[in-house]
Amino acid sequence: MKPYLMIEWNDSKTDAVGWVCVYNLVDGYCDGGIRMHSNVTKEEVQRLATVMAWKHEACKPHSSGGCKAGIRYDYKAPDAEEVLERFIVAMMPMIDVGVSLAGDLGVPYSTTRRIYAKYGREIPLTKTMKQNKQILENMRTYNHMLESEVQGFTLNNCITGFGVAWSADEAWKIKHGGKKGRVFIQGFGCVGASCAHKLVELGYTIVGVSDALGVVEDQNGLDIAELIANKNNFGEMDRSKFKPSYKTMPNTDWLNVDCDILIPAALEDVINKDNAGKVTASLVVEGANIATTAEADEIFKEKGVDVVVDFVANLGAVRAYHSVIFGNLEHDGQAVLDDIEGVCRGNTRKLFETCEKEGMFQREAAYKIFEPSTSDPFEI
Ligand code: NAD
Repeated sequence: MKPYLMIEWNDSKTDAVGWVCVYNLVDGYCDGGIRMHSNVTKEEVQRLATVMAWKHEACKPHSSGGCKAGIRYDYKAPDAEEVLERFIVAMMPMIDVGVSLAGDLGVPYSTTRRIYAKYGREIPLTKTMKQNKQILENMRTYNHMLESEVQGFTLNNCITGFGVAWSADEAWKIKHGGKKGRVFIQGFGCVGASCAHKLVELGYTIVGVSDALGVVEDQNGLDIAELIANKNNFGEMDRSKFKPSYKTMPNTDWLNVDCDILIPAALEDVINKDNAGKVTASLVVEGANIATTAEADEIFKEKGVDVVVDFVANLGAVRAYHSVIFGNLEHDGQAVLDDIEGVCRGNTRKLFETCEKEGMFQREAAYKIFEPSTSDPFEI
């Protein structure tokens, strides 16, 4: 199946370029985030929209189509929010019929909500959904719930990272049993930091973390609570608070840190043909979308590295959205998290069981198990 729709946008005031790709629609609806960084490409947006379609399928019974948007612009630029606003305005005709665009890398969910509110919109919905009082009420409750506090995070900032940690724990237990492994996490934003927190709670040692500014390593274990307490809103750690035992290095050296479990939770294509051979971990759990290239997968197959693929591990936010807005889940943060734990652990088990039974590599098995079956037209 090819993507249903791909649209390009050129900003009228800057050199920003953006794209929206709708992979498929379920009952005229699709959901995905808007990312912003200086190197976003059309191809990246299409690959991410595809992953979203599979991720929604992995969240069944509550499912939607997959879409993604990307803006090639520096998310730290002083006018980044104005660029985002102009992009959202350009895409409003599609948003109004059910292309639900929220936050992603470089674009906080709260900012998209603020822009929608400025133009009199809430979460984008189809015509049928807008006429459903229960959905409208659930949507408001959902937005409120996302701001609630869970173990020092907002629910919004931990639903995906906790799910990645539960998937990692499940895969590690299947492959290695009781003794917990040493973990390296690339990225210390919403996903990376909350994943690190949950893994520490589950008994793992985080031996290294990297952010946009560099890598920090301690084979005896980093103090994750302290690093989280001192990070800024861009997910950057405060170097002045590092302990004397911490070793620092440039973030290009991230694969020099010896570990058992590697969790990319920042950017796309970071494990590729040039560096996959350096991976020391026996398990890779993809917190970030499309973190591993096809060439790197081939190297992993030869080395025997197991992978929990992106749309299996990082579906927490998508699952929460579906289960609260369209499902019958109790409107309670703990119920949402319990549900995500069940889905992440269950899908990870299903993935590894299929690989075991059919002798397949995890990515191939995941694409087979969770292939989306629906592609409806827009509801006008
Ligand atoms: P974020 O913006 O909160 O954090 C990004 C982190 O990556 C920051 O710590 C940043 O410093 C770091 N980073 C940037 N460049 C880096 C580099 N070159 N080396 C190392 N670290 C670098 O983003 P997030 O919400 O945590 O999302 C991270 C990834 O997870 C993205 O790919 C996103 O698409 C994916 N994802 C996020 C969610 C979610 O709910 N937030 C859900 C599914 C997938």
